[in-house]
Amino acid sequence: MDFLTIAEIFEDMQKTRSRLILIDHLVILFKTTPVNIIKQVIYLLQGKLSLAYEGVELGLGEKLTIKAIAESSGRSVKEVEDKYGIVGDLGETAKEIAKFKYQKTLLSEQITVERVFLTFEKIAKSTGSLSQIIKLRLVSSLLNDATPLESKYIIKFLLGTLRLGIAEYSIIDALSIASTGNKINRKKIEETYNVYTDLGTIAEILFKKNLEGLNELQITPLKPIRPMLAERITDPTEALKKTNGAIACEFKLDGERVQIHKDGSEIQLFSRSLEKITNHYPDIVEVIKKYQIHKCILEAEIVSFDLESKKIQPFQELMHRKRKHNINDVLLKYPVKVFLFDILYLEGDNLTKYEYTKRRKILESIVSENKHNTIALVNQIVSSKLNQIENFFRKAKEAGCEGLMLKQLDSKYRAGAREFLWMKLKKEYDNRIGDSLDLTVIGALLGKGKRTGYYGALLLAVYDKNSDTFQSVCKVGTGFSDRDLELIYNELKNYVVEEKYYNVNSSMKMDIWFNPKLVLEIRASEITISPSHTAAYGIIRKNFGLALRFPKYSRKIRFDKKPEDSTTSSELIELYKRQVKQNKF
Ligand code: ATP
Repeated sequence: MDFLTIAEIFEDMQKTRSRLILIDHLVILFKTTPVNIIKQVIYLLQGKLSLAYEGVELGLGEKLTIKAIAESSGRSVKEVEDKYGIVGDLGETAKEIAKFKYQKTLLSEQITVERVFLTFEKIAKSTGSLSQIIKLRLVSSLLNDATPLESKYIIKFLLGTLRLGIAEYSIIDALSIASTGNKINRKKIEETYNVYTDLGTIAEILFKKNLEGLNELQITPLKPIRPMLAERITDPTEALKKTNGAIACEFKLDGERVQIHKDGSEIQLFSRSLEKITNHYPDIVEVIKKYQIHKCILEAEIVSFDLESKKIQPFQELMHRKRKHNINDVLLKYPVKVFLFDILYLEGDNLTKYEYTKRRKILESIVSENKHNTIALVNQIVSSKLNQIENFFRKAKEAGCEGLMLKQLDSKYRAGAREFLWMKLKKEYDNRIGDSLDLTVIGALLGKGKRTGYYGALLLAVYDKNSDTFQSVCKVGTGFSDRDLELIYNELKNYVVEEKYYNVNSSMKMDIWFNPKLVLEIRASEITISPSHTAAYGIIRKNFGLALRFPKYSRKIRFDKKPEDSTTSSELIELYKRQVKQNKF
């Protein structure tokens, strides 16, 4: 398959603002892609070389890319840099320069998707002292044979700036239509995806076999599964009403959710958004290695922990573990503790089909004593009595937890689902919403005075699943320390776009717009009707949206959440209705 076909479809996708048209493009792409490369094409769409959690890095910097563009076009590095200064994007620069190539090899080879992929793989694999030279040769020989449009997408992919903004939901919809002719089959595809999060393999099976073929993709150690999520409640009586008697109450720890996978001597840790985070916690890997279990998948919350006082430390302390280098230096300084709360797989047995009570028993039977008790079971009681639950809630708060997780005793593990089988009780006494919100940054105002050089206020959005858009809900300018301002600025500068991003829905005037990527945790005093924000527009009142009053950054960047995992417009509506109900009493 020619790479040009893909480049042209990517170009059309970048121009479209409609999710439906985007899906049409994807359907055409999937139908024209030969089955032997469908897997690669899916990964390409996701901006990756292989599965996201494999974390294969191309490791190409701007400098080297500029050199490669210069070498392949016969221009000087200075000329390329000047052009880049004007155009502002290296992919576009490569395209513009390729239009006027000084030297074009006479017998240039046709660029196929296979060739592009092979070259990308070689680039990723080349390490050592000569790697920079090898990478330079590989990129420039590819560019040498590429058309201007192909050059643009090769460079964008290599630099990791290929931001097509395609949500997984859209890929799943398009796969369903392209492989079965009907969107209705998306349900089966999504169910498979919940337990086998590799859309490349799913697509390959769909086109090689059929929908039934997906049955062979089952929960497997070392393949992360989508986490089960909880609904919010603000009062434990709500939880008791949902059950016939007792309910399991667990401490809700404020740390990082982790899936621990063990397959023989191989151990991998995955975050809530299924990124590999094994490197952040080598100390935990060591403890798990000693477990007398061959294969398992465990779920836990990792918290920062003070060994002397035996107290849980604030969430921010975990940030020290995100270092790419010298992680060993921080291990002793910032110890962590793992609190296991679920087990999903054990020695060939898929435990997600069992009820909570049975899973908890199995979990209790395998947690053994370990040095410093680095791994423990999450505190739990089973109760049907309101006062007992309230007492346990207070204990959780005293221990530095956010509140409680309430879990129905007969609930199976429903990967990827957010239902009342699990409920979270946080109760924020200082606000009427009862919870914090996770919002995506879509725009910013430039800072003035003390904040010159950073952003002064950020425009934040909820995610609307139906339209696959980000709808503005508040501007936030408080709660930031100087360090936070710098950190957030450095994160956001990677996502600046020239104009409002195609899937951003806002009528605000901002200095800067972003590709919606970064998720922040925000607290606010209440939700109000708003004439200027577009969140849940027209649903509560005609021509009005919903907005947050007195929003404040709660000092958490949610690196573990994708933008599509932000608080949704439907959740916002639910929270608003709940607030109105409470105000009546
Ligand atoms: P959500 O995961 O619901 O989208 P979130 O990531 O913001 O939202 P919370 O609203 O804080 O998380 O609540 C759920 C999270 O609580 C889980 O994803 C997990 O990280 C954490 N957690 C802490 N303790 C437990 C526990 N005992 N059982 C399950 N999850 C727990």
